[in-house]
Amino acid sequence: MESSIVLLGSTGSIGVNTLEVAKRFNLRVEALVAGRNIELLNRQIETFKPKFVAVANREDVAKVNHHSVFYGAEGIVEILELSSSGLVVNALVGYIGLAPTLKAIELNRRVALANKESLVVAGEFIDTSKIVPIDSEHFGLYYLMGDREFKKLYITASGGAFRDWSIEEIEKATFRDALKHPNWAMGDKITIDSATMTNKLFELLEAKWLFNTDNIDAFIEKKSIIHALVEFRDGSTTAHFAGVDMKLPIAFAIEPNLNEEILKPINLLEIGSLEFLEIEPKRYPIWQIKDDLLKNPHLGVVVNASSEEAIRLFREERCSFFGMSDIVLDAYHKFRDVKPYNIEDIIAIDGEVRGYIKASRRYHL
Ligand code: NDP
Repeated sequence: MESSIVLLGSTGSIGVNTLEVAKRFNLRVEALVAGRNIELLNRQIETFKPKFVAVANREDVAKVNHHSVFYGAEGIVEILELSSSGLVVNALVGYIGLAPTLKAIELNRRVALANKESLVVAGEFIDTSKIVPIDSEHFGLYYLMGDREFKKLYITASGGAFRDWSIEEIEKATFRDALKHPNWAMGDKITIDSATMTNKLFELLEAKWLFNTDNIDAFIEKKSIIHALVEFRDGSTTAHFAGVDMKLPIAFAIEPNLNEEILKPINLLEIGSLEFLEIEPKRYPIWQIKDDLLKNPHLGVVVNASSEEAIRLFREERCSFFGMSDIVLDAYHKFRDVKPYNIEDIIAIDGEVRGYIKASRRYHL
């Protein structure tokens, strides 16, 4: 096991869980990176005594109780260069997580990657042999697969906040409504992405890059007890059951040979029944592009940039819930022919898509 880690996104949902796991394994935390939650960061500094700290904004530096505070995207890169831990846990949210993933790999570190956007946006240019995913579905797939050749992979979705709402009700849904996830307590972005099913599209892309296959699909399992299934050539299908708690994938990303209790086992009699449902494009319009996106995974950068912009507009009450999917689908068709050949192209396409959405007022309220 690594003796120390660098943790990016320490004040978020994954970050806080990672620190609990670090405490349990007695790991040193060499560096903490947070955004704007300085109060929580200061408490974490007191407990974990990191050597380096970074925050999102320069004006917050003076509020941080530490002698070595960096800031901004460059600050994260500086911390990666100065630190020596073999493992970097990237729990940043969104596109800002990409540069640190690339930098950590360049520095030959192992990356425990919660920031799925890194792979969605630039999977083609990322050396996945250095990555261990922190995502319950991909952890489940790893757990099931072993060395045997598989035929097809499946991941499950909870269905998000509106899975039981009528379409008419969803049309009027607010940002606050979309944050009420039925099973998981997560950061705002991934919770909204779960309600639109964008999160599951992202996870299919993540799986595509991690397991080198596009023979992968998803369906709804409302209890979030089964996270992944593997179909083998002989006709068997195996399923991964585990409680709704990210500490299990986090613990395995930190210690791949783990063999102690992290979660209480599932009580199958308490669960009683399980149901598997199709993801319907009527309720989740983004699902229309699933097959095409898996055939053209380089378009992940378009879906991510448009989706991040759409979430911002929905948060600012400038588009409706379904308006978010309209924005992403429009951008997907508009930028259908882009083809990135390197990271510079990815950065340029990301900027173009965001610029297009900012300039277009078609779907804004
Ligand atoms: P949160 O929103 O809870 O946390 C995001 C973290 O990133 C916070 O620490 C935040 O700081 C920090 N951050 C945001 N912007 C910046 C910035 N500009 N500079 C430095 N730090 C910044 O997200 P989650 O923990 O839910 O998710 C993190 C990632 O993990 C996402 O990619 C998500 O898709 C993925 N994931 C999450 C799961 C979950 O259960 N939550 C499950 C599987 C994957 P602050 O809060 O201080 O502003």
